Amino acid sequence: MGHATAAPVDRLFVHCGELVTLADGPPTGARRGAAMQRLGVITDGAVAVRGGRIVATGTTDELGRRFAATDEIDVGGRVVLPGLVDCHTHPVFAATREGEFHLRCQGADYMAIAAQGGGILSSVRAVRAASEDALTVQTRAHLDGFLRHGTTTIEGKSGYGLSTADEVKSLRALTRAAAGHPVRVRRTFLGAHEVPEEYRGGRQDDYVALVVDEMLPAVDGLCEACDVFAEPKVFDLARSRRILTAARSRGLGLRVHADEIEPMGGAELAVELGAESADHLPQVSDAGVAALAGSDTTAVLLPGTSFYLGKPKHAPARRLLEAGAAVALSTDFNPGTCYTQSLPLIVTLACVLLHMTPEECIAAITINPAASLRLDAEIGTLHPGKRADLVALDLPSWRALGYAFGGNPVAFTCAGGEVHH
Ligand SMILES: [Zn+2]
Repeated sequence: MGHATAAPVDRLFVHCGELVTLADGPPTGARRGAAMQRLGVITDGAVAVRGGRIVATGTTDELGRRFAATDEIDVGGRVVLPGLVDCHTHPVFAATREGEFHLRCQGADYMAIAAQGGGILSSVRAVRAASEDALTVQTRAHLDGFLRHGTTTIEGKSGYGLSTADEVKSLRALTRAAAGHPVRVRRTFLGAHEVPEEYRGGRQDDYVALVVDEMLPAVDGLCEACDVFAEPKVFDLARSRRILTAARSRGLGLRVHADEIEPMGGAELAVELGAESADHLPQVSDAGVAALAGSDTTAVLLPGTSFYLGKPKHAPARRLLEAGAAVALSTDFNPGTCYTQSLPLIVTLACVLLHMTPEECIAAITINPAASLRLDAEIGTLHPGKRADLVALDLPSWRALGYAFGGNPVAFTCAGGEVHH
């Protein structure tokens, strides 16, 4: 350091055993097919950061000659990846639901659990009873959890309020939790997560009207996207299309819970409407796979949920990948069906249950979710100019991502150039 010709930078990360840059491909756009194999790994890598942005990546030797850093951080041979991007989470909830898990372990089925007051509507009761301040505190704690697991950007949904006031409260809590937090949050309105108790029994269309006519105007400015739980018994094709079309006309991005429980053509609807993503997809049809492959709608796969629920059928990742679809992986973090914030764990599940390769998984937790959130110009790879979001993993090699499971491999996370242990 200290060469007269060296350019000043704020921070230089040196001795990254393997620096996975994803920078040997284009900086933006989802990676598909063979392009998902290119990781851009630099051995004994280094990252130069100025003003919270990446200035350069290269070898420790090269960047040590080119730059003079105010702060030099020896990464100690760890594996470094772009900060992880989780593009499907439900972080705004007020109570955990381990009681239902306990019942299930004792042999209770879903209907028995629902009869005892469990299920999504128990989360709705808890959110409705919580103050905005209390919900903000809980949501911020969930953001801390994502950061501890190496995630620097999430998509966060509302959807446990299911009334105008409680959906607004949820999105305000999410906004306040994210303010000044290292984890970047892109907000999604999910008023159509379920039909609340007071609209059961033939009043589903009245609830759809409430979502379209009252909730969507009320959440204006509090979200960037709108999602719908598109299932035949919840929001069928016509109801889903009505809500999503209304949201699109208000300038919101569209995301769709599609073809999870029963096949309904949810993926085809997402593509038809130009949605950013179609999520879940264990029941996607051949036409849905083809539609996704020919579109910019990302297939967001959530193997943690099908694993946790003990479902025999997982999303057809190989068919989607081989057809050329943009594929991302996310946690689906939520209190009922997937209580994990660990994308490294999701990679293990994707390798074992979805038969994805570790290379594909790395693209699917970095650039591809970033592209689905329309944040790929900012994050998802380590191209110069992007936000300095990094995660350092206590692993011998990037190949150990997926292989090592059950622990948290994150040594530290860097968000916007600031290091968090
Ligand atoms: Zn979900």
